[in-house]
Amino acid sequence: MYFGSVRFFKHLILLSFLVMILIPTVAAFSLRGTVREQEAQLTRQEGQIAELEQSVETLRRQAEQPAEPAPPVPEPAPVFTADEAPYHSLYPDFYAPAPIGELVATPATAYLTFDDGPSATTDRVLDVLAEEGVLATFFVVGREDEASLNRLRRMAEEGHTIGMHTWSHSYRDLYGSVEQYLEDAYRVFTLIRDTTGQTPTVFRFPGGSINSYNRAIYQELIAEMLRRGFVPHDWHLSAGDAAPSGVTTAAVTNNILNNIGSMERAVILLHDGAGQSATAPALPGVIAGLRQRGYQLLPLAANTQPILFGYPD
Ligand SMILES: [Zn+2]
Repeated sequence: MYFGSVRFFKHLILLSFLVMILIPTVAAFSLRGTVREQEAQLTRQEGQIAELEQSVETLRRQAEQPAEPAPPVPEPAPVFTADEAPYHSLYPDFYAPAPIGELVATPATAYLTFDDGPSATTDRVLDVLAEEGVLATFFVVGREDEASLNRLRRMAEEGHTIGMHTWSHSYRDLYGSVEQYLEDAYRVFTLIRDTTGQTPTVFRFPGGSINSYNRAIYQELIAEMLRRGFVPHDWHLSAGDAAPSGVTTAAVTNNILNNIGSMERAVILLHDGAGQSATAPALPGVIAGLRQRGYQLLPLAANTQPILFGYPD
């Protein structure tokens, strides 16, 4: 029997010795490996810290260095600014009575505006407006005969707004320079003021605020008139009643009512010049159609938010 024999116990003692030596040796070696790994990791981290410290130091030194002198700013070339335009001093009484305050955009409002009067057409337009109980706006040109002056007075007495359209309505003369425009506009300004006692505050550029004649100066023109407290008004919708070939009453009505769509506000361009025979007869239908669509009809006021072609909302 091997088990229990002397040989068995000898082997057992030998095996015990082997186990007692092997286990600590193996353990010691594996422990050393772990320690070495950790040491290596520490060394790497120290290296990273050193690198970081170095970059911090570099940054600090850079910050301490005096900044490079900035390149010299070139002197702005002497430019002509609108603040000192020579035409500012022209016509010292050519100003609106009050500065333009906060502009108001009243929703669901239509504004009937009539350009190029006064003329015989104006009488018929005023009659219809009176019958319908509607106030409107007239952008007038320079006419000094007694009938024209009476028409201006009637507009004012009946509560309409009288705006400036210019004296001559001649694109070539008006838009040659800001000075030329001011000279002309001032004439119609004084005509309205001296005839009606009311100082106009709104105006309309012939051909609109931006057109093929005034492209070079339209911004300067608008700025100068705004500086003087006047508000320019283009239009959302044209009645097409000034077509040179003539136009029917139905066409005028349709041009407005078929195109107004869901406009929030509508400044409507009409004409009361001498040739515009369809305008006044179209008005009752236009007014009824606008009211039916929920619009109130108002004249332009000094603080009515304008529509301007070059400056969309
Ligand atoms: Zn006109």
